Amino acid sequence: MKKLLNSLKKFLKPKQVLDKPEDLHLYDTDATALFKNKPRLVLIPYDTEDVSKIILEIISYNEKLKNPKEKLSFVARGAGTGLSGGAIAAENSVLISLAMLSKLIFVDYENRVALVESGYVNATLNKALLGTGLHFAPDPSSQLACTIGGNIAENAGGIHCYKYGVTADHVLGMEIVLPNGEIQYVGSLVPEFTENGTAHKHASSNLKFKNTFSDLDVTGLFIGTEGTLGIVTKALLKLTPNQEAFITIQVSFSSTLTCAEVVSELIRQGFKPAALEIIDNHAVRAVNAAYNLGFSDEVKAVLLIELDGINEEILKESHRIEALVSDFNPLSYKTTQDVAERLKLWKVRKGSASAFGRIAPFWYLYDAVVPRSKIPAALQGVERIAEKYNLMLANLVHAGDGNLHPNFLYDPEKDPSVIERIFEASHEIMRLCVDLGGTLSGEHGIGVEKQEYMDYLFSPNDMQKMLDLRAIFDPEYISNPDKIFPIKVCKECHREVSANGL
Ligand SMILES: Cc1cc2nc3c(=O)[nH]c(=O)nc-3n(C[C@H](O)[C@H](O)[C@H](O)COP(=O)(O)OP(=O)(O)OC[C@H]3O[C@@H](n4cnc5c(N)ncnc54)[C@H](O)[C@@H]3O)c2cc1C
Repeated sequence: MKKLLNSLKKFLKPKQVLDKPEDLHLYDTDATALFKNKPRLVLIPYDTEDVSKIILEIISYNEKLKNPKEKLSFVARGAGTGLSGGAIAAENSVLISLAMLSKLIFVDYENRVALVESGYVNATLNKALLGTGLHFAPDPSSQLACTIGGNIAENAGGIHCYKYGVTADHVLGMEIVLPNGEIQYVGSLVPEFTENGTAHKHASSNLKFKNTFSDLDVTGLFIGTEGTLGIVTKALLKLTPNQEAFITIQVSFSSTLTCAEVVSELIRQGFKPAALEIIDNHAVRAVNAAYNLGFSDEVKAVLLIELDGINEEILKESHRIEALVSDFNPLSYKTTQDVAERLKLWKVRKGSASAFGRIAPFWYLYDAVVPRSKIPAALQGVERIAEKYNLMLANLVHAGDGNLHPNFLYDPEKDPSVIERIFEASHEIMRLCVDLGGTLSGEHGIGVEKQEYMDYLFSPNDMQKMLDLRAIFDPEYISNPDKIFPIKVCKECHREVSANGL
């Protein structure tokens, strides 16, 4: 390790290399906080070339090892807001923080694209675009902190992704550093080449884009692979024109089931709002108490619907929605086109995370997904499971995507067995959702949190095919290893690579 440190320090400044236990401790988990492991080192590259050189140094260190078991791997980290343990270092792993790759390189208004470095924070882009009539559509609730690289790795979704699509629908091309250290351009991002065929040394100023969709879609393949195929260093993003008008609708119900049935009916009738969110009983209780929103005790669920588009059209649509909803006896129905009032109506959703702190000091946010018609059954099942394990549960649902977010609120000091029960309950929730025709993750990824559930959906043969694909990019199995696949399958893959030599 000392030798590696010495070679790294030849091109990295001291503050780019962290090896003190107290520094490493800061990087031992992500936003789940339930899974932990300290990285061997934390390295903070300033540009793509640094990322490439760091990986080459790790490879060179591994090549000189006598014992293959000591082989080092690496894991990319954006802001560490991930909720499946993806950015946590595996055993013997070096953490590469992309936090300093945080530049907006250019915005091309005519072609509605922006080129950013991968550590650029999601919400910062929309701040930079204010007043231009354009925005970046993927809006994870963590957008004030999470990075574009993390969004790409997890294929992040968000409140408005039902209508506008998830991250994969908004990335046109990328600069990536492969697990062999090579810098590669994929999709619509092409560097200007020098005469001998290699990219200019300072390629960032020379990156151009081409409008081609005819090549193999490596961009699409890479998105959502949780850093296992390499590290994204730049991304060319599609920008979306702002809509002329919006209408926010907030409806409250005396039962979560009725609220979920309204969602199924809206979808069945072909409505495609920009956002469609359910906030259930405990979540409403918590936010109501924290922000005094004026919901009566009768309210057991709130539905937020947002329409956007041409004013005349969305007004007509909102009248049709009002008629549909009235058949389900709502307790209240509010609409607004005013920006300040809109924020107030959204508070019941956006204020939920901070309000949970009033109920319990810890909060575990789970991610499950079912076909939208199965949301009522899934919510009933999740309630049953929470009762069985005596857990405090608040549900938030990206209903348009069938994406459930059960939030377990807990205090391990008062209830020492609670974490064990949360894991058992989440295991049953996953089984329930898969049985209802759903899948393992709506947006938070598999990471370490859900790797043991992969065989609920995938046969050994399916998983082997995915590992074969992974091995094309990472034959040495050093890019974020031991994630996504069940740990037994990961170890098998590791053994195979080691047996074939480093
Ligand atoms: C309060 C809260 C709300 C959230 N809401 C949402 C939501 O609405 N929608 C949603 O989808 N998610 C949500 N999340 C989860 C999380 O914010 C997203 O998964 C986000 O995309 C992670 O970005 P990050 O920069 O924090 O990545 P990290 O947590 O640092 O990393 C996540 C994964 O990406 C990999 N990675 C990071 N950067 C790179 C890179 N440059 N190249 C290759 N791999 C990389 C890591 O190795 C890891 O596997 C929420 C999280 C919190 C805490």
